[in-house]
Amino acid sequence: MTPEDEKWMREAIRLAKTKGTTPADTPIAAVIVRGGEIIAAETNRTQEDNDATAHAEICAFRAGGAKVGDMELRGATLYSTLQPCGMCTMASIWAKVGRIVYGAGRDDVHKMYFEDRNLDTVDFIRDAYRDDLNLEGGCLKDECAALYYGPDDDVPEDEQGNI
Ligand SMILES: [Zn+2]
Repeated sequence: MTPEDEKWMREAIRLAKTKGTTPADTPIAAVIVRGGEIIAAETNRTQEDNDATAHAEICAFRAGGAKVGDMELRGATLYSTLQPCGMCTMASIWAKVGRIVYGAGRDDVHKMYFEDRNLDTVDFIRDAYRDDLNLEGGCLKDECAALYYGPDDDVPEDEQGNI
């Protein structure tokens, strides 16, 4: 983790907060950086777009691919305020980013943010054909975790994304 990583994560946190500052606002953001420049910066839009796949990372891959005119984002780093879910980890593999840096990890937040009890980001990456994708968690972890429901929070059932 470098000062540069924290800089981009701060940008992701700032963007996440544009959605609101309570967990009910699903303030999740992803920023894709390559060559010292942001090529995509998106928030979660599942509710807004009525689209279960509109996670911040997926939106960022769509925007980034459109911006650079290439579906493959080799050499790019994906910054996400929250550990990517299985779908977004798989999308990261397909998008060919070189690195994933996330803030809050699975154990720092409520289980509602993940689709599965056992599969984890690292499992997807460990078993991928590619062996050049690096994953680092815990960048500005506390600031990121503060955006979300905590592991022991009593979350209303209608807000729980995975039920
Ligand atoms: Zn996701």
